[in-house]
Amino acid sequence: MSPPVQPIRNPEVKRTQLFIGNEFVNSVAGKTFETVNPATEDVICLVQAGDKADVDKAVAAARLAMKRNSVWRTMAPAERGRMLMKIADIIERDIVKIASLEVIDNGKPFSAAVGDIKVGVACLRYYGGYVDKIEGRTLCMEDGKMGYTRYEPVGVVAAITPWNFPFMLSCFKMAHALAAGNALVLKPPEQTPLTSLMLGDIVIEAGLPTGVLNIITGMGPTAGASLTEHPDVNKVTFTGSTEVGHLIQKASGDTNLKRVTLELGGKSAVIIGKSADLSKVVPLAQDACYVNMGQTCCALTRTFVHEDVYDEFVRQSAELANKTRAKVGDPFSDDIKYGPQVDKIQFDKILDLIDVGKKEGAKLECGGGRLTEKGYFVEPTVFSNVSDDMRIAKEEIFGPVQQIFKFKNIEEAIDRANNSEYGLAAGVFTNDLSEALYVSNALESGQVWVNSFMPGGMNTPFGGYKKSGIGREFGWDGLLPYMEVKTVIIKM
Ligand code: ADP
Repeated sequence: MSPPVQPIRNPEVKRTQLFIGNEFVNSVAGKTFETVNPATEDVICLVQAGDKADVDKAVAAARLAMKRNSVWRTMAPAERGRMLMKIADIIERDIVKIASLEVIDNGKPFSAAVGDIKVGVACLRYYGGYVDKIEGRTLCMEDGKMGYTRYEPVGVVAAITPWNFPFMLSCFKMAHALAAGNALVLKPPEQTPLTSLMLGDIVIEAGLPTGVLNIITGMGPTAGASLTEHPDVNKVTFTGSTEVGHLIQKASGDTNLKRVTLELGGKSAVIIGKSADLSKVVPLAQDACYVNMGQTCCALTRTFVHEDVYDEFVRQSAELANKTRAKVGDPFSDDIKYGPQVDKIQFDKILDLIDVGKKEGAKLECGGGRLTEKGYFVEPTVFSNVSDDMRIAKEEIFGPVQQIFKFKNIEEAIDRANNSEYGLAAGVFTNDLSEALYVSNALESGQVWVNSFMPGGMNTPFGGYKKSGIGREFGWDGLLPYMEVKTVIIKM
């Protein structure tokens, strides 16, 4: 067995500039923004803030890379696949450096950062292997005609990513877009821009042609919006809030009808039947809620529990959350499971919503406050007696706050779980197979997990019903929206 990897507590910040056409450059206006370590509240460094003029440059570089007969356009599919594999290999080699930087920028525990990066690597390898297996069809036609389809890249893709899984999501977007043969302009989140910038050096080392990947750090309403409005961007792939998803869809409609893949918010429910084994489902349900300090769009935050086991479930959940307090702290420490929230805005919002929950009459079983004087650490929190009309039952809290609801029968539980404007993920925890299948089919949600949490892999489509998004990522379903289907018909 290989020895456990040790983090670098003061990782080097090598890159803070925009990456355009294989060069690191300052923004045209020379503006910068601060990025902060959420565990200490210290400013790590200043990062270049791109704006419309920089977006124009990056899109032009990407467009050049997509020119007919360019190196990228004419590269053999197997070679394109090898590029993605090479990028994956370099990331794997540098995983300690990347993960350590992710820890200071985002606050997640080192082991979690390593885990995320491995998933990013897996995605690059999965789609690297897919490239030379993207095949069109020969079409059934009358005598004297033949037809076939080709999958072609959509062109220049803009990827706008959030702060909760910064490096991993940049890898996901890059893997999909490049496997399909597109060029990419990546806009990382302003809260956690540092690890995505490392991709610049990585793609240079891998030998990716100039302009295939460009990175514009900056603010959402300026850098991000300029990408969504740009007439020469063909597609936007976005992971983030539903609110910004609306803006992107609108910008697409108001400009050149960009294709969009939107992976948005959630308020996912888990239904826990009376046959469930509490010793297993209590920790599973809490992990599924607190994952990444609750900062996960598909976290199972609405916990519906059958009345027969409700009281005991609540008691055990509160007991567990109280114990988990000791597992929140310095993200570089080995025995830590949860770090701080990403920034003061999120931290304040969570504490505010906890206050709202108390005022609306939910019962605070444990937690509910800040954990330390310094750093944005929140106590693991459990609410019981939550009713569907409360704000904490409807709004995304994005923190370690579990909300437990009581139900009498399964039909009622399904209706209440579906009574949400979101539909990203859902769970059903039960020992009754028929119940598991019945509930899974009835839930309005892009993924349903039975007796598990996030068990999928790179071949399992992920995305939302309703306001949780448009389109899917991963597998063939995830790759298709990055391509145009061309039909060629020949009259013989
Ligand atoms: P969160 O609330 O989780 O921070 P956001 O949806 O606000 O999520 O942000 C996710 C990403 O979207 C970030 O990279 C952010 O800069 C970007 N963003 C924010 N506002 C806009 C906008 N108006 N247009 C395009 N991108 C935006």
